Amino acid sequence: MKAFKRAESNGFMIPDLTLDCAYFENTKCKILDGKKLSNNFVQQSQTLINGRKIPCLAVILIGNDPASKVYVNNKIKIFKEAGFLSKSYILNEDEYSEQKIINLIESLNNDENINGILVQLPLPKKFNSTNILNSILPSKDVDGFLAHNMGSLATGEFNSAVACTPFGVMVLLHAYGIQLSGKNAVVIGRSNIVGKPMGLLLLSDDATVTFAHSKTKNLKEICQSAEIIIAAAGQPEMITSDYVSNSAIVVDVGIHRKIDGKLCGDVHPSVKEKASALTPVPGGVGPMTIAMLLLNTALSAWDLSNKK
Ligand code: NDP
Repeated sequence: MKAFKRAESNGFMIPDLTLDCAYFENTKCKILDGKKLSNNFVQQSQTLINGRKIPCLAVILIGNDPASKVYVNNKIKIFKEAGFLSKSYILNEDEYSEQKIINLIESLNNDENINGILVQLPLPKKFNSTNILNSILPSKDVDGFLAHNMGSLATGEFNSAVACTPFGVMVLLHAYGIQLSGKNAVVIGRSNIVGKPMGLLLLSDDATVTFAHSKTKNLKEICQSAEIIIAAAGQPEMITSDYVSNSAIVVDVGIHRKIDGKLCGDVHPSVKEKASALTPVPGGVGPMTIAMLLLNTALSAWDLSNKK
């Protein structure tokens, strides 16, 4: 995978899980196990850290969004498990102006002990997230959201951080030996943090990519002709089995909390009766997103070509 070359040259590898895979109960549908693969990256990080600078992530959480608090705590927990450092800045939205947050980010940009800066999204409405994110130094943008890093992905240079969620999806597909070259892939969603970088990554590995979005006509027919479907529309269980051809590979990026408190994705459970492989929710793309945050922070600390 082209996007993984920088990680490879710093000692990371994608394990081969092809012979080590489980199936959803009573189906022939493989579970693409993001939790297992994420644990593998935590172990690799623990090993690779030996004799190197300990990477440190600064996490900024503004406001009281309960889901954001859970995401931030999960990230901090994984960093600790890997032997990495993290520093949290939990900010009260009433006490912080946009400029005060930008000042904090600038001081973290100048701090040699900080390798990555993450601003947890979404921000409270009163803030302009573009202004805030754009104040992060590109070499410390371990989320891979900034135009500089998106540009490196779009041009195929891959010399800086790749957006964590789509990067995690690619690593997962590769670990399970899923060939992308020449495959018809549909990406449902075109956001800057998931859909667009996802499509570019698939394209860089020679898939034939269709982007679908809320104005797309005949989405069902488009999906039926796809060999790979990436569901990132943010619509609970919208991809039902009639969208999916027999033996398609389906990646569920969505994450939603249902009224009963359980989590679900953008893909309906019935899809596993038809698909040949599917990512579970939870335990699929979510843990891979955090694993790639770990990886991007390690590369920011260790990869000398990043120090521009
Ligand atoms: P956005 O809301 O930013 O984007 C959603 C995209 O889906 C848009 O491009 C939108 O189209 C498109 N869309 C919405 N409804 C439909 C529809 N009915 N048919 C086709 N396309 C549609 O979401 P994100 O990209 O940030 O996230 C997508 C999902 O992934 C969410 O559920 C989010 O929670 C989850 N997520 C999960 C992560 C993880 O770690 N597991 C990380 C990040 C996100 P248009 O552009 O026309 O509006």
